[in-house]
Amino acid sequence: MKIYHYIAVALLFLSGFCTHVIAAEDKLSSLIIDGQNNHNVWPKSTVMMKQYLEQSGLFTVDVYRTKPTWRGEEHPEQYKKHSDESQFHVEVPIADPTFAPTFSNYDVIISNFGNTAAAWPTETEKAFEDYMKNGGGFVSVHAADNAFPKWKEFNKMIGVGGWGDRDETAGPHLYYSDDNRLIIDNTKGAAGTHGDIHELEITKRNDHPILAGLPDQWMHSKDECYGNLRGPAENMTILATANCALEFNDTGKHEPMIMTIDYGKGRIFHTAMGHNDISLSSVGFITIFLRGTEWAATGKVSQDIPIDFPTVRHATTRPFKTP
Ligand code: ZN
Repeated sequence: MKIYHYIAVALLFLSGFCTHVIAAEDKLSSLIIDGQNNHNVWPKSTVMMKQYLEQSGLFTVDVYRTKPTWRGEEHPEQYKKHSDESQFHVEVPIADPTFAPTFSNYDVIISNFGNTAAAWPTETEKAFEDYMKNGGGFVSVHAADNAFPKWKEFNKMIGVGGWGDRDETAGPHLYYSDDNRLIIDNTKGAAGTHGDIHELEITKRNDHPILAGLPDQWMHSKDECYGNLRGPAENMTILATANCALEFNDTGKHEPMIMTIDYGKGRIFHTAMGHNDISLSSVGFITIFLRGTEWAATGKVSQDIPIDFPTVRHATTRPFKTP
């Protein structure tokens, strides 16, 4: 036996002790739903989130996509073509009458839909409401809170949302003042705005298993600072806000970025972050996304804080490698 054989055997031996592998049947089952999003990056962002979930070792991941119903161009399956910062599809998606995931097969559903997503079939909406009321888990990422402005129960699930002609009739705008007071603002006005893309200063507002062990403040990589989101905000807890400063043409307020909502027996984790692939490469995003998804699925968080988690001054990213 040569020396490298000894080394190989030793590594194999050690790996048996060091790697905590969860059997596939014991992993949490997750489903990413997508297909209609005004952010051209969406096919890539689904791949990124799928990889994060799988690499955590905690989740199995399926993807359920609407049928190619995008008016005016082919369905953008080739995500590599859509990895730039171009933001908006002008085409209006057409409803997919066959869209009917079996939600009850999963511990958690993750929405990568966006603004202008067509309404789901009524039976699918009802199936999703039943799934959530009976203890399902749901994760809303970035523009997923733009979707379905007319669907009353969905708006309860996300707590607050933006665009899609939402205004004061959707509910109040919640934010934190500079002196750390929660403001519930019923002033008339449109819901949903953001200024320039910039690094976001995130501030913890409430204790929660998703945030356990994290610093009170950290920097998040360049993203949109969603502001003026409005909605019923029932049973919603704001876990963290971003400083949406006027110098970036934002609202000048501390806007909700990470939220949890109770809906029936179901749990919802809502992050307004995740505009493009830079935002999704943020270690802050990845960490919160994985912890929030586990919490939505189980009500608990078992994950450690990664050593490359950002600091109060510096955002950190992990360059994404295509699978
Ligand atoms: Zn965006």
